[in-house]
Amino acid sequence: MTHVYLDHNATTALDERVLQAMLPYMRAQYGNASSRHELGTQARKAVNTAREQVAALVNVQPTQVIFMSGGTEANNLFIKGAAGYLRPTQIAVSAIEHPCVAKPAQDLARAGWKVRKLAVGSDGRVDLNDVTAAFAEPTGIVSVMLANNETGVIQDIAAIAERARAARAWVHTDAVQALGKIEVDFAELNVHAMTVSAHKIYGPKGAGALIIDKRIELKPIIAGGGHEQGMRSGTENVPAIVGFGAAAELAAERRVESGQRIAALREQLEEGLHELGAIIFGGRAPRIPNTSYFAFPHIDGETLVIELDKLGYAVAAGAACSSTSTEPSATLIAMGVEPELARGAVRLSLGATSTAAEIDGFLQTLGSVVKRLKGLSAMAV
Ligand code: PLP
Repeated sequence: MTHVYLDHNATTALDERVLQAMLPYMRAQYGNASSRHELGTQARKAVNTAREQVAALVNVQPTQVIFMSGGTEANNLFIKGAAGYLRPTQIAVSAIEHPCVAKPAQDLARAGWKVRKLAVGSDGRVDLNDVTAAFAEPTGIVSVMLANNETGVIQDIAAIAERARAARAWVHTDAVQALGKIEVDFAELNVHAMTVSAHKIYGPKGAGALIIDKRIELKPIIAGGGHEQGMRSGTENVPAIVGFGAAAELAAERRVESGQRIAALREQLEEGLHELGAIIFGGRAPRIPNTSYFAFPHIDGETLVIELDKLGYAVAAGAACSSTSTEPSATLIAMGVEPELARGAVRLSLGATSTAAEIDGFLQTLGSVVKRLKGLSAMAV
């Protein structure tokens, strides 16, 4: 059975054009980008072209792009790298960060940092009053995601960055879920650093970048031969980097058109969800156009996901990255959602291949599954 894929925030399929761009670097052009000979020079040129493509997508100079293995590594480099350079004060991160920001931030407590969680409102947006309150204390590092992976809610990063800069803190945003879905302009966001990842924009897994303002100084977390301007040693993964560049170029070309198309599909989806009695999380706030996060009271999210999977629909329960845990979503708890309802959370994330027919089929299938599960839960009472 081929599944209808409605989980594009977890990952996306490699675009065929991206694959074609990568293939030569997995075959004849296998050179090490540090080698001086022709094969190496070709690899170096390919990496530099990709750097220009990624830089163009987020409106920075190519030298500001530090390639590495993905979003997780980029977030770790910013937090650990900044902490390795600054004297310990306060690190402020939102209460809804991805674990690859939340955990390294928490780890800094052992190095004498005070870890401050920035509150979010019931709409899923970071509370700017709490941001102002937090920065009354000396603060060195701030990290707030641009778009949340579960709700899709977009944060007012420029407003947070303005306050962070006034407090003389270094400010970072994890833009992994926003890239390719809304405009992401480094200068407009006014941050010192930003994380991006290739596999969420129809590029390969295992490639990402930290975009940095060259005026900040980070202590590398991987030391070695001095690749990537000394910030990330290790022989470059040339095919993956080339793929990231190609995906970035495609993302720039299709963002506006596909954004509008996908926003219309989500409207269709959410109208149907309302009719079925779903509660939609974060729906009042600005969101990336592809994401819908909802629950049906008294229906377990995991169960719903498994039932939908059996019927050919690939969707996510809570955050895919924490799917091994049965804890309700930390994002929803931070938004004040009751744990019982949060356990019902299901996320749909649309993408390039999504169609109106898929949404129709999904809503019909969901309707029958929900009816059946409601019947079962009524019997259990
Ligand atoms: N940040 C966010 C918001 C994400 O959703 C993800 C992936 O799920 C990551 C970071 C991690 O990126 P990567 O998978 O490239 O390590």
